[in-house]
Amino acid sequence: MIESVDLETGERGQELLVARVRVKAGAARRCSRCQRRCPGYDTSPDPRRWRGLDLGTTPVFLQARTSRVSCREHGVVVAAVPWARPGSRFTTAFEDTAAWLVCHATLSVVAVLLRVAWRSVADIVTRVVADRAAATDRLAGLRRIGIDEISYRKGQRYLLVVTDHDSGRLVWAGKGRNAATLNRFFDDLGAERAGLLTHVSADGARWIHDVVAARAPAAVLCLDAFHVVAWATEALDQVRRAMVIRLRAGGHHEEATALKHTRWALLKSPPNLTAGQRTTLAGIAKANGGLYRAYLLKEQLRAIFQAVELADARALLGGWIAWAQRCRIEPFVKLAKTIRKYHALILNAVEHGLSNARSEATNTHLRLLTRRAYGYHSPEALIAMANLTRGGLCPPLPGRS
Ligand SMILES: [Zn+2]
Repeated sequence: MIESVDLETGERGQELLVARVRVKAGAARRCSRCQRRCPGYDTSPDPRRWRGLDLGTTPVFLQARTSRVSCREHGVVVAAVPWARPGSRFTTAFEDTAAWLVCHATLSVVAVLLRVAWRSVADIVTRVVADRAAATDRLAGLRRIGIDEISYRKGQRYLLVVTDHDSGRLVWAGKGRNAATLNRFFDDLGAERAGLLTHVSADGARWIHDVVAARAPAAVLCLDAFHVVAWATEALDQVRRAMVIRLRAGGHHEEATALKHTRWALLKSPPNLTAGQRTTLAGIAKANGGLYRAYLLKEQLRAIFQAVELADARALLGGWIAWAQRCRIEPFVKLAKTIRKYHALILNAVEHGLSNARSEATNTHLRLLTRRAYGYHSPEALIAMANLTRGGLCPPLPGRS
């Protein structure tokens, strides 16, 4: 209920619109945790302000006295106000708008447009996600999931993320990369729903396989195509870097620099190459046989996951291992050993069609998210950001659902 609206001059001389409001009797004295009506406890002498959506270019604030209630279950807590989430200095409409924008624009755009600090955007996202996650069960109906480790803070810390292969959505994320973290996911999922999982894909980590075997015994384990291709890409990059160093050492500086700039032509998949990059590759094929063979090994491995028939994939994979084992390119000889070890899990992925473009897009998005160092003062903030943008928790724009 609005009591008055005034224009004020802010600390920096800017105009502010301040609406003095009061909670209507029907909504008053409710616990901010459980929304139950409770006896009042006290009322603060000083009013509090909440930032609302701008009116044109003028910042808007709601101002009200806050009170506390004595909840039978939660003790003395702040009374709920209908216009804001508990503990927030922003209105719900402002927060939902900010969260929606975060899903559709870069964080820097959001911060500038809404005139808020990074830190505030991260806090808003955390509150919106907690609010919306409580209202949905994202672990319902899972059948085929992917488990992945994502590093942040330059590879020192990890998040464990679980994606749904059927929707492509992120359904769970937790701090750490060990059996304890994965067991927490299975605790949240519950034994009954874990028993309904049919497929679980992951990277090669032994501890993931052990926990999955123990807690989702009916699920077929697969190795994500994403990881296999990433291993091959890394091997190829090692070959290229070693060649650059060798050329430099031999005094061939021009050739070394030219080779250094071939990185993207080599790492991209062929359909995405630009005309210039195709020319670069043709040049490598002519002048740099070893590197070109390494490139072909990477592409051939990628092609295995595109095989329609399992028999084709099996033949291709056998051929690839044989080729890589005697290619005399050290990183690929090593990779051949790894691939041989995971032979069965790779074929499982092909057989069950688990090389999924949607969950791969989610993985790529999450990796990009962790690379932006700013804004995340804690892993919890990063998890909230991941859940908001990839977990289907983006709120509708206020008034437009
Ligand atoms: Zn309560």
